Amino acid sequence: ADDLVRAVDRLMRQGDDARRLHVRANADTPEDAARARRMGAQGIGLCRTEHMFLGDRRQLVERLILAETTEERDGALDALLPHQRADFNGIFSSMDGLPVTVRLLDPPLHEFLPDITELSVRVAVAEARGESDANDTRMLEAVQRLHEQNPMLGLRGVRLGLAVPGLFTMQVRAIAQAAAERIREGGRPHPEIMIPLVGTVQELEIIREDALRVLREVGEENGVELDFPVGTMIELPRAALTAGQIAESAEFFSFGTNDLTQTAWGFSRDDVEASFFSAYLEKGVFGVSPFESLDVDGVGRLVRIAVEEGRAARPEMQFGVCGEHGGDPTSVHFFHETGLDYVSCSPFRVPVARLEAGRAAARTGN
Ligand code: PEP
Ligand code: MG
Repeated sequence: ADDLVRAVDRLMRQGDDARRLHVRANADTPEDAARARRMGAQGIGLCRTEHMFLGDRRQLVERLILAETTEERDGALDALLPHQRADFNGIFSSMDGLPVTVRLLDPPLHEFLPDITELSVRVAVAEARGESDANDTRMLEAVQRLHEQNPMLGLRGVRLGLAVPGLFTMQVRAIAQAAAERIREGGRPHPEIMIPLVGTVQELEIIREDALRVLREVGEENGVELDFPVGTMIELPRAALTAGQIAESAEFFSFGTNDLTQTAWGFSRDDVEASFFSAYLEKGVFGVSPFESLDVDGVGRLVRIAVEEGRAARPEMQFGVCGEHGGDPTSVHFFHETGLDYVSCSPFRVPVARLEAGRAAARTGN
């Protein structure tokens, strides 16, 4: 058994020596980050921040959504800030010395709102009894105002950052303050700030300018240099097709191949498996779901275009992928051949991605 363990360790080491692709993990808690590190991850390629707004924090988010004045809104954001700072401090500690790509808030707003039917019934029943609750009524108005037919194509990602003043600023401030705290304690935090769902360089420019200002301010307040990269996800076809322009305002690109697959095909990633995918697989439209293994001809071509345009505009640009495909063996070969710098996948898929990246390099001789 010892021989076998040594042989496996040797194999992993040889793969690591051979590969050019770095392998990071998708993780958003200190525990997941530590697990990812044990699996050999060389950083976090996607720290989703949405779970940080659920559970106990939901009330604060509701306060933010219901805010009617600037003071109320700023109060809610001020209350969220220390929680976010603690979240990032924990993750930067677990990943000390390694890059952590923090993605600013992405999910559709409705995920934070109470269920519209349940709330309508509650308000109607209370009204009928002559016991209406002012908070419930206000919440129902907000839920109705924010209701969307297609939330995945709606108010999420960078659009949230532009529509809710101060939200992304608060997140960047929390990242900057946590990093400053780590530096003062002798740590080596390497956050990278990532903007989701960008479709045009203008969206990115507005958020990026604000982020750079906050990094500068918090750096000065703490007497430390906070020179962290600000970049974008490429997860909409328009972003891939205008990557040359977007590269002017991004220090890195990370391909969100889940959304890129959804938007390139026009398939709802939340619904397809249950609706027509089994028929497609049965009839051989494709052999494997494009959400599982990258569709090289379509989505892959968008990735190639974005890499070419991005590199032409900014030769030092870093390229990664953080969609599910980052841990899919076949897709890893494609990302190697396309010249990405890293793939990022769930912690448990990190060893597979390391081996496949090694095999891809051995096979192509680079
Ligand atoms: C993606 O779209 O590929 C991605 C990584 O982001 P999310 O899955 O959180 O939308
Ligand atoms: Mg996405």
